Amino acid sequence: MQVQAGRDRSFYKWLAKAVLTENDQRDGPLDARAAPRVFSHGIAGWINKRRLAHVRSKPMQRLMPVAPQDFRHAETSFPQGGKTPSKCEAASSTSVHRAPLAELHVADVSRSPLHCRYLRGASRDSGSASLVGHLQQATKLPVSDTLLRLGRRNSLMRRLLIAFGLSLVMSMLAFCQTPHRVAILAGKLIDGKSDKPLENVLIVIEGDKIASVVAGGSAPAGVEVIDLSKATVLPGFIDTHTHVLLQGDITAEEYDAQLLKESIPYRAILAARNAQIALSHGFTAIRDLETEGAMYADVDVKMAIANGEVPGPRMQAATRAMAPTGMYPLLGYSWELKVPSGVQYVDGTDGARKAVREQAMYGADWIKYYSDRRYHFEADGVLHSMVNFTDEEAKAIVDEAHRIGKKVAAHAIGSDGIAAALRAGVDTIEHGDGLTDALMDEMAKRGIYWVPTVTVGMYVAPGRGGNWPKMAELQRENFPKAIKKGVKIALGTDAGGFDWKVLNQAKEFEYYVQYGMTPLQAIRAGTSVPAELLGWGDKAGTIEAGKWADIVAVSGDPLKNIKELENVKFVMKGGFVYKNEMR
Ligand SMILES: [Zn+2]
Repeated sequence: MQVQAGRDRSFYKWLAKAVLTENDQRDGPLDARAAPRVFSHGIAGWINKRRLAHVRSKPMQRLMPVAPQDFRHAETSFPQGGKTPSKCEAASSTSVHRAPLAELHVADVSRSPLHCRYLRGASRDSGSASLVGHLQQATKLPVSDTLLRLGRRNSLMRRLLIAFGLSLVMSMLAFCQTPHRVAILAGKLIDGKSDKPLENVLIVIEGDKIASVVAGGSAPAGVEVIDLSKATVLPGFIDTHTHVLLQGDITAEEYDAQLLKESIPYRAILAARNAQIALSHGFTAIRDLETEGAMYADVDVKMAIANGEVPGPRMQAATRAMAPTGMYPLLGYSWELKVPSGVQYVDGTDGARKAVREQAMYGADWIKYYSDRRYHFEADGVLHSMVNFTDEEAKAIVDEAHRIGKKVAAHAIGSDGIAAALRAGVDTIEHGDGLTDALMDEMAKRGIYWVPTVTVGMYVAPGRGGNWPKMAELQRENFPKAIKKGVKIALGTDAGGFDWKVLNQAKEFEYYVQYGMTPLQAIRAGTSVPAELLGWGDKAGTIEAGKWADIVAVSGDPLKNIKELENVKFVMKGGFVYKNEMR
């Protein structure tokens, strides 16, 4: 049965009649013993106090029947990906307790923040028809004292009040069920999968997802239209190598100062700011590859974004990263001092497995480890390095991570470090300056991603000196070879290795085109390819029906000038507009 809230008067007549035929039920029993367990705080607690006062004012009555199962199964859901929660979502995300609707007075239901959750759960689980049945059941139970007193005096008044209460509930049901709809009129669309841009496309968004993408389409009546007819619209960018908790570290002194002089709370505040910068530059998703001594603060930043507390990209977090004892800063301090470490020190195969479990327990989406250090060129012209973990340790990290469903990223710059990481079975190679033909062939064959982070290499090389400028040059030589060999290249910048306020991450696109990609290839390297790397291939990375409404726009044509991507004018994430300078 399709219920049309607020319209079907005969339905209310019937319902009110059905309620009033059983007068002996009107004082209704209460489950006083269950109440304190079900509700504990806020408005729910207030409701409960009222209920208990009501019970204590009467002789003990029989317990209320068990509530309908459909309401017990209503799920508590959090808004995904940082969309500013709607009223309904905010209510559901803050109410962690579950209780059946039938335990609430009808008048209380209309005021409680719990109501949207029940209605959403009910409509999803059992449909409107069974909801009506449950409401009928619910109204046989006590309404508020006021209603009852009025009802005893005047049955007509009671009928009217019950009908009004039900009408309110039905209206809320309709409100909660309708997702917000908006349309984008795109002058030019680079959807992330087509070989060339599409002209004059209408993108309809419902809630946080794309509902349809139609060339030459017109917006449905009553739907708000965002006019991007003079812009190029693209999928939101994805950076697969960032450090939101770091503010640039050209020199060791800069790095050490952040770990020694800044508290983790202070660094987390800066991280929230950095996340906002990333989003305003068009990055709607990032993989943050370790906190550099800030423990699990990346998980907190991710949670604050996902809960809509601060604006930022969707995040996957790697937490602390791993290196063997003494093989990652801070180093060189007196042994009398206990200084923080930029990673979790991990030794032995048992230690490796335990560290993976520990990081996963505290929220790691990815496991990252440092495969090598001390990069140097040898007579063969190849960039070599000192490998950190034994093969057994590295394999234990990867095996344990994969066993519990986590993927592994390896920092690997020299050829020895890259080879060791490939032997261990990692999923992504970070930096990879020292790739050789043989290593590239193996990566292409096994579908292992290369995340080049050219931006940071170019940024730190002059300041660091030594081998760094030569390493950056080697990476430039390797880049076109990797494209030719079919290595999957996913955009990653190492933002945080450079100051977030100084460089725009989208500069990485510019390097990829300089190094041999077509603009369209570079755009895919920063959208659809990293979406697959993150395991979000079916949710992000392209503009098509069913995917998250993560959409950006620039005013020029990035296929003619890739630098346009460094000047994003419009950002939508999860259907919510965070920036629009195209008005
Ligand atoms: Zn990094």
